[in-house]
Amino acid sequence: MSSTAVPRILCVLILWTVAAGARGAEQPTFAVPPRLAISSAELKKLKEGKEFAALRDTAVRAADALLQEPVTPPDGWGNWVFYYACPDDGSPLQARSATEHVCPRCQKVCADERTVQAYRTLLHDRANAAALQLGWAYAYTGDERYARAVRRILLKYADDYASYPKRRDRWGREGWLARLGGRRYSQSLDEAVGILPLAKAYDLTRLAAAWDEPSRQHVETDFFRATADTLLYANQDVNNHQTWYNAGLLALASVLGDAPLVDRVLTMRGGYRDQLQRATGGEGLWYEGALAYHHYALQAMIEIVDAGRRLGLPLHEEPRFKAMLLAPLRCAYPNGQFPAINDSDPGSIDSFRPSFLWGWRTYGDERFARAYAGRDPQQLAALLGPDARPGPVVETKSENLADAGLAVLRGGQGADAACVMLDYGPHGGGHGHYDKLSIVLFAGGREWLVDPGRLTYSHKEYQTWVKHTAAHNTVTLGGRSQSATTGKLLWFAARNGYSACAAESDGAYAGAKLTRYLLLADSMLVDVFDVEAEQATQIDWFAHAVSQTLEPVGAQRPGAPAVPGVEDGYRHLTGARAWDVPGATRWDFVAGPKQRLRLWLAGADPEKVFTCTGIGYSTAAKVPCLIRRREAKQTRFIAVYDLSADAGFVKQVKPADPAKPHVNIETRTGRWRVEFDRPEVRVTIE
Ligand SMILES: [Zn+2]
Ligand SMILES: [Zn+2]
Repeated sequence: MSSTAVPRILCVLILWTVAAGARGAEQPTFAVPPRLAISSAELKKLKEGKEFAALRDTAVRAADALLQEPVTPPDGWGNWVFYYACPDDGSPLQARSATEHVCPRCQKVCADERTVQAYRTLLHDRANAAALQLGWAYAYTGDERYARAVRRILLKYADDYASYPKRRDRWGREGWLARLGGRRYSQSLDEAVGILPLAKAYDLTRLAAAWDEPSRQHVETDFFRATADTLLYANQDVNNHQTWYNAGLLALASVLGDAPLVDRVLTMRGGYRDQLQRATGGEGLWYEGALAYHHYALQAMIEIVDAGRRLGLPLHEEPRFKAMLLAPLRCAYPNGQFPAINDSDPGSIDSFRPSFLWGWRTYGDERFARAYAGRDPQQLAALLGPDARPGPVVETKSENLADAGLAVLRGGQGADAACVMLDYGPHGGGHGHYDKLSIVLFAGGREWLVDPGRLTYSHKEYQTWVKHTAAHNTVTLGGRSQSATTGKLLWFAARNGYSACAAESDGAYAGAKLTRYLLLADSMLVDVFDVEAEQATQIDWFAHAVSQTLEPVGAQRPGAPAVPGVEDGYRHLTGARAWDVPGATRWDFVAGPKQRLRLWLAGADPEKVFTCTGIGYSTAAKVPCLIRRREAKQTRFIAVYDLSADAGFVKQVKPADPAKPHVNIETRTGRWRVEFDRPEVRVTIE
């Protein structure tokens, strides 16, 4: 043996080990059950914990009730749950029997086939939940009665599954035409969500004496395998339905011990890794742009990751997955509230608390502990120890969320924290609004400039108001809404004492260019909006602020009654008054005794200012709106928002150069000159 042979053999050995390790990372390990709902090691640890007795007793109480009054799956498939409603007034029905259903509002009795089918969906859901409840009671106590009850439910499904429709959707289409359809339910989505508790119930009880081998085979082949076939029938690609299919399929692969199926769920188009790559951006935000969808997809992703981890696959180590967990903290206001951009509902990071706790337990990353504990110091101490100091929960840095197309400027601290978000990015598909270069603003502990979100899809205002440009804090041309388009960020600057950005859009209106410049500093927001159109047209600039009233500051005669417009959302702008003003003016949105948002409006051109009332987060919420209107080919709107509690920070605002986006602002603490010039902003303070 030569002197170099030993190192060479070592080297080969190391390479072989590395390769085997890499391959092993993708190979699932099917440990002795339970390995889906929980692992044996996790269960052992749970039983040793001091909270176990309480957990067990709660589970036993719920399961005992299910032994007293056993839940049996219904005979036949379940139709779309929203069909279980009164045809006259839409109220959810109440069951008088399996075949008779009463409207609690008008007392109408429904006994038609579709209603009965829809009711069965509720019964299937009940059976799913009951099985899991019983499964946990068995895992905690080893009492065979609970395992027998699980077996009874699962055997009924194994007996019945072949008798369900081959594949049918809620419109009655069958087979290949029913792409979203299913067999136990009218949607494969429901089948995917519904198989999770049943697969876990099996996982928790399958080694109990209650189960014999033929029963296990029957359930695995005739129910679990058949359900997997249903979920593999029509791949939904990046859609969030597919995320749930993936969760259901991985749970089934786990209980079936099916390594090729595990691999398929992780690697196929629309599978776990592909969805992370294509359905989320680098910031981890779900592509549909609304946090409700993000939340929905994330719940399924956590199911996938947990199932995978218990098969020895470290799926949580995907950076995009962790980014998904953290993403809500990056697009929230300082108080944790989310702006309702596109088809969103008002919401807050609170809805993500269970995922934050999951993140803390999985990664031990302090950000999750802080997000979970919120402003509760005891909770924080319980997670991070007695010395933990409360700190900000939400991201405090300004940042450009490039994939979401959202520039987030943040400033101030504590009660003075302010945040403005500029929406310049992709339209957002079917859930998008015509809102390019719109902004939302949070200051003084509350949201001021608002996007109404989606209201609900069932309100007529969903079509007549919320999607329109006039419902947003941006500009319209010719009194019409913008086109669906993607704008672009020109630059972004986060510096000591301020942050700033600029974005433009040339696709919102044919032949027109819109450019918006923003600078957020402590106590003020500087906003310059440039419009260049092909020919002279009506240009309207909007500010909708959550408040009680909107009033002119200083001596102004009362405005004349006016109608700002009728088309594209304008008819919801009611009670308007108008002023013709030659130059600079000031306006206050007043929300309470010490809550006032003052706008300093300037610009070289004369304008008409309207005050009116639009719609907020509900059709009953009246939101004051200010409109600046000019007839021009080219114009520049300058606005400075005083964010101080007494509206006394800004003393004077003037354009600094008629040809350039430069503004002089006199403030309580000095004179600012802000020059929004490409490629960047220049600020001088005297
Ligand atoms: Zn009714
Ligand atoms: Zn909107």
